[in-house]
Amino acid sequence: MADLKSGKCNYCDKIVNKSGIKKHIAACKEKKSTQQGVPSHEKTKYFHLMVDGKYSPEYWLYLDVKSTTKLKALDDFLRQIWLECCGHLSAFRIRDQTYSSYPDKSFGDRSMNYKLEDLMGEGMTFGYEYDFGTTTELNLKVTSESEGKSRRKAIEVMARNTAPDVRCSACGKIATQVCAQCIWENKGWLCDKCGEVHKCGEEMLLPVVNSPRVGMCGYTGNGII
Ligand SMILES: [Zn+2]
Ligand SMILES: [Zn+2]
Ligand SMILES: [Zn+2]
Ligand SMILES: [Zn+2]
Repeated sequence: MADLKSGKCNYCDKIVNKSGIKKHIAACKEKKSTQQGVPSHEKTKYFHLMVDGKYSPEYWLYLDVKSTTKLKALDDFLRQIWLECCGHLSAFRIRDQTYSSYPDKSFGDRSMNYKLEDLMGEGMTFGYEYDFGTTTELNLKVTSESEGKSRRKAIEVMARNTAPDVRCSACGKIATQVCAQCIWENKGWLCDKCGEVHKCGEEMLLPVVNSPRVGMCGYTGNGII
């Protein structure tokens, strides 16, 4: 069985374990080749961020993020690649401060109009929540800071987990759908055939997608994944 935490480097296509990805990216020749011949005054500071599911760490993204990126842009990015279902609220928790998509000033919340470089540094960890009802919680860690060629894109995916091999709870074939009700008992992963006869009804079924929000609320992956 494949390592549940394995993923792929987007520069060289190599399959790398989550625990070895920091080392791999630091040494990856394809990643390095994007930096050759760049004068130092054209370089920009980047943070390498490991993002994973708090309760499902087999889903992870390893991101190269310009240090001047605002929390709002990181929020948008996470919604797009992993989370967005119906425009729920979200928040970053950095140190003891909440940075919210819809700040409630009476609770001392701040907006997301802050640059990463003003809030974080190497080694720092922080949290993120999407949807305060059916919440998806993420952990983020600044694994390193680096200088890199200035580019337009603020956030680049350096590596990402390969889709976990999820099996049908009823028959063991590859699961394609999950029941939004039964998932709370860690059941209800279903193949096409077993989905047709599932007791909760087909309207409860959501597609299996490569995201820590799989099976939550109305999350379908938006066709992006
Ligand atoms: Zn690589
Ligand atoms: Zn929703
Ligand atoms: Zn089945
Ligand atoms: Zn069900």
